[in-house]
Order: sequence, then C-alpha cells, then structure tokens
Amino acid sequence: MSPTALPAFRGRWRREHWTMASLVGSVGVLVAMIVPGFSGGIAPRSEEPVTRAISLPLPSRIAPTIEVAALEPQAPVDSWRTVQIGKGQTMGAVFSDLGLSANTLHQLLQHEGARDALTHVRIGDEFAFDMPEPGELRALRFARGEDEHVELVLDTDGVHETVTKRALEHRTQVASGEITSSLYAAANRAGVSQNVVNTMANVFSYDIDFTQDLREGDHFTVVYDEVWREGERLRSGDIVAASFTNRGKRYTAVRFEHDGKTEYYTADGRPLKKSFLRMPVEYTRISSRFSSGRMHPILGKMRAHKGVDYAAATGTPIRAAGDGRVSFAGNQRGYGRTIILDHGNGNTTLYGHMSRLGRFRTGQRVSQGEVIGYVGMSGLATGPHLHYEFRVKGVHKDPTTVTLPPPEPLKGAMMAQFKAQSAPALAQLDALDGRRLASAEAAGAVQRQ
Ligand SMILES: [Zn+2]
Repeated sequence: MSPTALPAFRGRWRREHWTMASLVGSVGVLVAMIVPGFSGGIAPRSEEPVTRAISLPLPSRIAPTIEVAALEPQAPVDSWRTVQIGKGQTMGAVFSDLGLSANTLHQLLQHEGARDALTHVRIGDEFAFDMPEPGELRALRFARGEDEHVELVLDTDGVHETVTKRALEHRTQVASGEITSSLYAAANRAGVSQNVVNTMANVFSYDIDFTQDLREGDHFTVVYDEVWREGERLRSGDIVAASFTNRGKRYTAVRFEHDGKTEYYTADGRPLKKSFLRMPVEYTRISSRFSSGRMHPILGKMRAHKGVDYAAATGTPIRAAGDGRVSFAGNQRGYGRTIILDHGNGNTTLYGHMSRLGRFRTGQRVSQGEVIGYVGMSGLATGPHLHYEFRVKGVHKDPTTVTLPPPEPLKGAMMAQFKAQSAPALAQLDALDGRRLASAEAAGAVQRQ
C-alpha cells in the first residue's frame, strides 16, 4: 500500500459547506470591525454571535450593523493586531516585527500554558496582540489545541490565563464504495478521507492483504465519526464499524471500548487483531512465492523456496509478525542479516536479507508490529526484499496461507457489554449493505428484462 502516491484528498464536505463557510467568513470580517481583537481563527469570548448569525437572513441583520459602525464617529481605537504565521516565521520574528521586546516574549515563555503554543507555531496559526501603546503588550489571544481559546493578560505581577472551551461535536457519517481501480480512488469517490481509509485498511489488515488481494467489485461500507467545531468540519475521527467484501467474502469490524482500550472486533465478538500480522512489511510486490522446488536465481539449481519474498525499497521497516522473543539476531549464510523470532506454541518466524537490524538483540522480547530491522539485500539476493519464513513446530508453512486457530471470542459480562455497545452500529452497517445488495439486485433485474 502506498497512500502517499495518491493525490491529496479533498473532502466532499468542502463543496457542500463552502457557501456556509464563506458566510461565516464574511460575518467574521464584520465582527472583526466591531469587536476588538477578534478576527479569523480568534473567536470571541462566546461563539454565540457567529453561530446565530449563520442562521439569520443576512441582508436584514447585517446591513444595520454596517450602518451603525459607519455612523459612529468616535469608534474606539482598535489596539488589537492579528498576526497569521507565515512560512518559516517564528514567534521571535513576530515580536520583533511588532516592535515588542524579547523580554516580553521571554516573560510569556515562562508561562506553562503558553510555551508550547509560542514555540511550536505552524503556518496559518493566528495570534491576536493587544497593544495599547507601541512596544507594550497588554494581552495575547490564541487557539490552543483544537478546543481552547486562550487569553493571556500581562501585568506587573505576571501572566494571567483565561481559557474559553470551544465545543466539539461528533457526528456519525456513513459511506460506501466499490473498488474499480484502487481502494483510494473508491474512497475518494465515496467522499471518505485518506485517514479513514488508512484506518479501515489497518483494521482489516489481519484478514485482507490490501496490496494483492483486492479485486474489481470488492466493496466496503464504513460508519465513522466526524469532529465538528463551530459549524465547520475539523477532521474525521474513529471508525465505528465497517464491512469489507473481498472476492465475495464479507468481513465486519466494530469498535469496542472497554477498560480504557479501543479495539475492533468481528460482529460475533472475536478480536480482529490476531496473533500474527498478515505480512510483516509494506511491500510493492511478491517477488517469489513459497514453493517446494524452484530454480534459484543465483545458485542456478532447483531449490525449494521455504518462504515468501516481499520486494520493497531498501530501508522499508520490517515488523515483528507477532509477540515473541528474539532467538537469533545476526548474520546467517545466504540469508544475510537475519532475525528469528520464537512466538511460543512451536511457532517461529525468520526475516532475512536485512540492510540493518533494529534495536533488538538475541534474548529480548518484542511485541507485534515493533520494527526489528530494515529491508535490504544482504546475503544472496538479486534485489532488495524481505525473505520471510513461518515455521510451525519446525515445519515450513506458506506465510501467505498459514492458518492458525482464530482468537477466542469475548466471554460473559464482557460479551454482553460488547453486544449492547456494538448493536446500533452493526444494525446501521447491515442496513446499508442490505440496501446496496437490494439495489444491485434491482439493477440486475432491470438488465435481465
Ligand atoms: Zn526468499
């Protein structure tokens, strides 16, 4: 899978909500004229004026406001200045541009709640400065995290912080798509963000190899959270439930939150996370499959290939397929730099031809997914790839097809909790998939007529 190769995703909401966003924008400009220190991302103390203004008929309410502003000759001098961080700009540079002393910045940096916001600025971040006199900073406003407005007031005895919480709202969204060219293209058409696709691919990664298993006609449905703030979509959140039909087989996943953990389960309450990863590396193609006899490309004679070769760029991280202990880390003839993991129950895995080993040494414990080394072509190899072997009680198995007992389902009270929590999302998923099936059948019936 190489999500980075795909064009950046633009959410469907942007089109639908563009009008609303521009209304908010124009209202914002007006408010900025009459409320000191408020502009753009710096919201007023209360979100009320903006939220209310969106739903009101604009001409009748906005026009008088402009007149009032225009007719007021003694408008107070605006001592607020809003700065938007530009490329490569630091807060030190901003202070210097505004004619504020380094001492003032230093004083602010002593304040715990300001340090991170002022030292880790990003392009587009906005800061509002209250400067009653040149060189004098009375207060500073900025957004902290995704749900806070902060005002820092400076006076002789230090910095005083006031925080206004911004309400975040979670909305449930559903989307479905069918694969015609790639998963990302299908998701893009369905208006699903790359973040959601990646999570979905991750959730199903134990069952589906998205690099080689996908077929035209595969389809998915996903129920997910979106986080909204003040009428604008902020980002996509977690996947609540998803189904993926791969070559006619339907897989389901549903989120289950318990004991402070969030994990995905099948509809019948078995964890999707299995003892072993489907593949230990993000590869570009399988360059050699498991076989009992093949012509060895370098030795030039018939030889069994007791593993699978995953071609990938040199340096691609290799992950431990399962929890285990390093039983070998070093050089092996032919295999080059190699790691062997012992996972217990007679299961071992071997990773060969690494360009370099990770931080794990013989005898150490590793957890599933931890990086144990990097793809290379040490030993006998014609190009960079991972040679991966899976042995069960000493017997080589094809890693792409080896089946191990499925994880145990939840039990007792935990299962009851799971069923109660997952029922609404699963019902939503089934309804959507059912509707999809019905419309596909209807389309088929029309074609048959
Ligand atoms: Zn190999």
